[in-house]
Amino acid sequence: MSKKEKMTEIETKDYLDVRHEDIEPTFSDDVLVGCHNLHKYFPIHGGLFGAKIADVRAVDGISFEIKKGETHSLVGESGAGKTTAAKTLIRLYDSTGGNIYFRRQKTGLFEDVTKIKGEDLRSLRKEVQIVFQDPSGSLNPRIPVGDIIEEPMIVHGIKSKNERKDRVVEMMKIVGLRPEYLKRYQHEFSGGQRQRIGIARALVLNPELVVCDEAVSALDVSIQSQIINLLQRLQEKFSLTYLFIAHDLAVVRHMSDTIGVMYLGKLVESAPNAVLFNNPAHPYTQALLNAVPVPDPEIEHNKKIIMGDIPSPINPPSGCRFRTRCPKVMDICKVEEPKMKEIEPRHMAACHLL
Ligand code: SF4
Repeated sequence: MSKKEKMTEIETKDYLDVRHEDIEPTFSDDVLVGCHNLHKYFPIHGGLFGAKIADVRAVDGISFEIKKGETHSLVGESGAGKTTAAKTLIRLYDSTGGNIYFRRQKTGLFEDVTKIKGEDLRSLRKEVQIVFQDPSGSLNPRIPVGDIIEEPMIVHGIKSKNERKDRVVEMMKIVGLRPEYLKRYQHEFSGGQRQRIGIARALVLNPELVVCDEAVSALDVSIQSQIINLLQRLQEKFSLTYLFIAHDLAVVRHMSDTIGVMYLGKLVESAPNAVLFNNPAHPYTQALLNAVPVPDPEIEHNKKIIMGDIPSPINPPSGCRFRTRCPKVMDICKVEEPKMKEIEPRHMAACHLL
């Protein structure tokens, strides 16, 4: 065994206890994707021999499921692990531990896709797609937009040039772009139009699940609403399932069926949309909702805003990770990590107060 292989084996050994090889998924028929105890750690190497000295625990054991045709949002501050969780779920990152179950297009059955490789992984890539935050950064500036939208079809072996061309024109019309623009380059479009190109590219292969990673955060407010309406129209038309990553709670409230709140790599609360906004149970969720500005100076003046920054995911606080900023912290919070528990039907939260 080479030194590198040996080191990898040692690095992953600690996490094997969180990967459940023999677990049987017990999802209901309407669930498309579910993850169980998902972990993603990024090792930090250093010292004289480049050995592993620590881990960035970006995602540290989260579980959730998304029903087909619904939108599940992950919210939280920057550094909470939302984007890493989404990218791990769709296998852009390999998970460090846990399981990812996906209802496959070809069989209609759940499959643990955590370790699939080769052709099987390629076929999964057709079923899950992503729309990125920065449309200009995610589109190749050197090729015309028609080729950008066509590219996934070439990668996935759609051989007929005419078929591909027809599909590009169809997709451009669906997302509200004029087909005669297909020879233009991305810098010739506005920000909103570029995001439409990103959406057309994501949908060209008829995916089941689309991750919208802060897909509207970089756009002007008026353009944001156009893109949100487009995403909702497309969801209805193609029965799409969305995993929506955002920090703007107004957008999340408008888009989501269910919401998970993340803090420092952990889920602290999850609930259906109306329940979370009307009855937030976790002090962190309450603080997030409290931070939303309201047009009343008196209310704004008396608001209690959480102070400080999110701690480092390399060395998270003991017990409850939110304890260093929690206004309701107790002695137990320092020593015992609160577990997620159901506080009412479909409403879960992790806090010793509950
Ligand atoms: Fe606050 Fe303790 Fe609840 Fe954590 S467990 S959110 S520190 S009260």
